Amino acid sequence: MKILLVFAHPESRSLNAALRHVAVQELEAQGHEVRVTDLYAQGWKSVVDRADFPVLDSDARLKPAAASKKSFEADALTEDVKAEIANLMWADTLILQFPLWWFAMPAILKGWVDRVFAYGFAYGVGEHSDKRWGDRYGEGTLVGKRAMLIVTAGGWNEHYAPRGINGEIDDLLFPINHGILYYPGYDVLPPFVVYSVDRFREADFEPTAECLRERMRTLPITQPIPYRRQNGGDYLIPIMNLRPELGDQNMTGFKLHLSGPTS
Ligand code: FAD
Repeated sequence: MKILLVFAHPESRSLNAALRHVAVQELEAQGHEVRVTDLYAQGWKSVVDRADFPVLDSDARLKPAAASKKSFEADALTEDVKAEIANLMWADTLILQFPLWWFAMPAILKGWVDRVFAYGFAYGVGEHSDKRWGDRYGEGTLVGKRAMLIVTAGGWNEHYAPRGINGEIDDLLFPINHGILYYPGYDVLPPFVVYSVDRFREADFEPTAECLRERMRTLPITQPIPYRRQNGGDYLIPIMNLRPELGDQNMTGFKLHLSGPTS
């Protein structure tokens, strides 16, 4: 397999960097080809602005989605973005690795998504009409590929449990897993999350590294999160609501979008 790991940590001696090394070593030992995009090391530009769209007239109003569409269609995105799109097309599997900062990904990684997931590439794909709301959520450019997160968190496992004060980890990661990765077509694997890392002792490293190696070994066969496909018949078009007869009637929120034995 071909794997792209996008890494977002500013320090090469960090725990994240050590875990990245473990993951890459294991993937290569399994015979996979790995490319790493190290966002801080390469000084990734993390904001969307006019400089992203050289095709735009200097006095034209900047409408980011329209400019992204025009630039993608004209093959006129900036070279750094084009290189990342080529990496995404090359890879069978995408791994995003980051420390959880304010319950989200670091800004530099969000900026990678904002700039690389262009209109026509990651969104705005397929027929948009009253009958069809595009190719997304299980369909799209990146369909057939896998994606997963490697995340470190200062909070405890218990703090992210279903009744934990931080909110459940699957809920916190839903906007990334479902909104960013599933949206353009990836099959999304359960995340690898390491908790309590600010209290990490040297003795904690090897057991964690071994769990990560196991996840890397099983990357090709791990079952994806069973998100519902937008165009699989579960949603009313065009309001894109889950059909009333599906899911637990008392359930609201993110879990509605998982298909299960009772759905
Ligand atoms: P490091 O600081 O590099 O290392 C962590 C510990 O691991 C250190 O004690 C270090 O000695 C040890 N270590 C490092 N490498 C090794 C190694 N090779 N072998 C053995 N031990 C090692 N946490 C949350 O849960 N939720 C949040 O919303 C959140 N928001 C944050 C916002 C900001 C701005 C910041 C800075 C932190 C936040 N945190 C939050 C905590 C954050 O998630 C952790 O600090 C981060 O995940 C730690 O990862 P790191 O790679 O930076 O670890």
